[in-house]
Amino acid sequence: MTEVLDRFLRYVKINTRSDEFILDRTPTTDVQWDLARLLEKELMELGLQDVALNEQCFLTATLPANTDKKLPVIGFLAHIDTSPDFNGEGVKPQIIENYDGGDIPLKGKAGMLLSPKEFPDLLNYVGQTLITTDGTTLLGADDKSGVSEIITAMAFLLAHPEIKHGKIRVAFTPDEETGMGITHFDVKAFGADFAYTLDGGKLGELEFENFNASQATVTVHGKSVHPGDAKGVLVNAQLVFMEFNAMLPVEQRPEFTAGREGFFHLLKTAEGGVEQAKGFYLIRDHDAHKFEVKEQLMRDAADFINRKYGAGTVEVNIKEQYRNMREKLEPVFHVVETAQQALQELGIQPIVNPIRGGTDGAQLSYRGLPTPNLFTGGHNFHGPYEFANVETMEKAVQVIIRIIELYTNK
Ligand SMILES: [Zn+2]
Repeated sequence: MTEVLDRFLRYVKINTRSDEFILDRTPTTDVQWDLARLLEKELMELGLQDVALNEQCFLTATLPANTDKKLPVIGFLAHIDTSPDFNGEGVKPQIIENYDGGDIPLKGKAGMLLSPKEFPDLLNYVGQTLITTDGTTLLGADDKSGVSEIITAMAFLLAHPEIKHGKIRVAFTPDEETGMGITHFDVKAFGADFAYTLDGGKLGELEFENFNASQATVTVHGKSVHPGDAKGVLVNAQLVFMEFNAMLPVEQRPEFTAGREGFFHLLKTAEGGVEQAKGFYLIRDHDAHKFEVKEQLMRDAADFINRKYGAGTVEVNIKEQYRNMREKLEPVFHVVETAQQALQELGIQPIVNPIRGGTDGAQLSYRGLPTPNLFTGGHNFHGPYEFANVETMEKAVQVIIRIIELYTNK
């Protein structure tokens, strides 16, 4: 069994499911401590320095420089929690060696199959080793594959002091899946010049672009009178809300967009009544200008309605959630280019697609730590069809080491 697989199998068996509905504490669930404490012990045993697990379950450590050459401090991050969306308790990984390209029975559920008919990516791994679930849980390759790969790379460098490198910082963080964990990460104390998250999917994935994102709360105030005497007086908040929504472009909805196309997504309506109606929207676009146009379109729609029904009928409150990290990576584009070079030197075709969502790296980039995202070898995250490819995990370990070497030799 390979070292990275050995770690991975050890970590996935520990339930670390986070909880998106707990807003007032980090970590959101106590189970995340179980893995954090195990990793803390393992990092110390490996011989990493400054191993620190703080009161919010952020685990950091240092691989000290072994050369006097002045080199940047490089960070590597992965998250320890698994998705709140699916059971993470009692993970029983199945190891499929020399995969034959056929259906894989997930043995914990009678009749359940992981099939290349449904998931054609499986066919890329014929003859290789796959790790699947037994159908009753998620696997947790998101992101325990990233955790295993970073630690395996550090172990390799510790065992090979002839490979010269600068100071390396690693971090294992809670509550990525709730979107909130990383807001508590101490970027300054981490002290890296730039970093990489290992939290992507298939071989070659390199992500440095994500959505600009905001959330809009639209509140409509109606005027309720007895419907019998309503003529010329009644303003039905629900109907005005529908009118507002109809002014947003239909083709710019998530179900009609892909690639670099942004959208307005009506997430939820609430308090529907004659007196008041509310809607919550997500606004998304990779392009900063198009993103601003989308926000402005919502305000313009509100202005029109307010002229039609009277000032104050509609209020639009827009809150920024995160920004496209590309803006922050462009001035330090060597961070992306070096990763691309590492992939190419290892014979891996880089796959660069804009993320239709956010990553921890997006927030970190905006807080001064430019952080693109690298592949880990996991697929079908957040559910029972999740699987990982061991050969890709080993490649990810090599990519980490190669990036470090490239910076030494620059
Ligand atoms: Zn993840």
